[in-house]
Amino acid sequence: MRHKIIAGNWKMNNDREETKSLIDSLKSISYPKGIRVMVSPSYVHLSDAVKMVKGYKLEVLAQNMHFLNNGAYTGEVSVKMLKSIGINKVILGHSERRTFYNETDDSLKEKIKIGIENDFEIIFCFGEQLSDRKNGKHFDVIENQLRNPLFHLGSSSWKKIILAYEPVWAIGTGETATPNQVQEIHSFIRGLIKENYSSDLANSISILYGGSVKSKNSKEIFSKNDVDGGLIGGASLDFKEFVQIIESL
Ligand code: PGA
Repeated sequence: MRHKIIAGNWKMNNDREETKSLIDSLKSISYPKGIRVMVSPSYVHLSDAVKMVKGYKLEVLAQNMHFLNNGAYTGEVSVKMLKSIGINKVILGHSERRTFYNETDDSLKEKIKIGIENDFEIIFCFGEQLSDRKNGKHFDVIENQLRNPLFHLGSSSWKKIILAYEPVWAIGTGETATPNQVQEIHSFIRGLIKENYSSDLANSISILYGGSVKSKNSKEIFSKNDVDGGLIGGASLDFKEFVQIIESL
């Protein structure tokens, strides 16, 4: 179902005390009705975080997971492990995972598959490089990033998918896509889902934008018709800034 969502991607930041203190601060807020707020601490703090948010509106998600339940994969974390500590949602396909850890459309397809089998909600990230946009290839790149991992899914599996358009050139760079650029891509994505499924399904999917969202630019981006919220990196580590972004949705 389509929701308004703000998700904080904490990446490899915050030690245990910092994590707890930020979650405590976020628990003290009364959030606008109808908005889902999520945070994604590092794996090692997920168990603490799940316990801390019990009974609160805050949701906790993992930043990644493996595509198998177990095995000889040193350093990896499986869906089964996440499930056993009460996690039921995950970010997949972040550009940092694609760039630094060689995640491909094929491995992401497997991750999505095991996520859906385990009833996980998935924030699936995708987005073009600057060179793609300069060469006018951004629509094709985005379509391909969605087609292989997602467009084989049955309609009912899409209930578990949240999309996050994150142009790589805007992540952590301070350079944000303009609200019109964001709207153009989000509406293109809805069009693709409509073409491959139905307009009902296209209109039921939450599509978030991510890439240097700050309180000073969030309101305008979120005001666009096809933008249902944001995946926030750097600004989600700053309590006041994050709350202002939530309030601007
Ligand atoms: P940023 O990161 O807000 O720091 O650009 C967004 C993301 O990586 O999801």
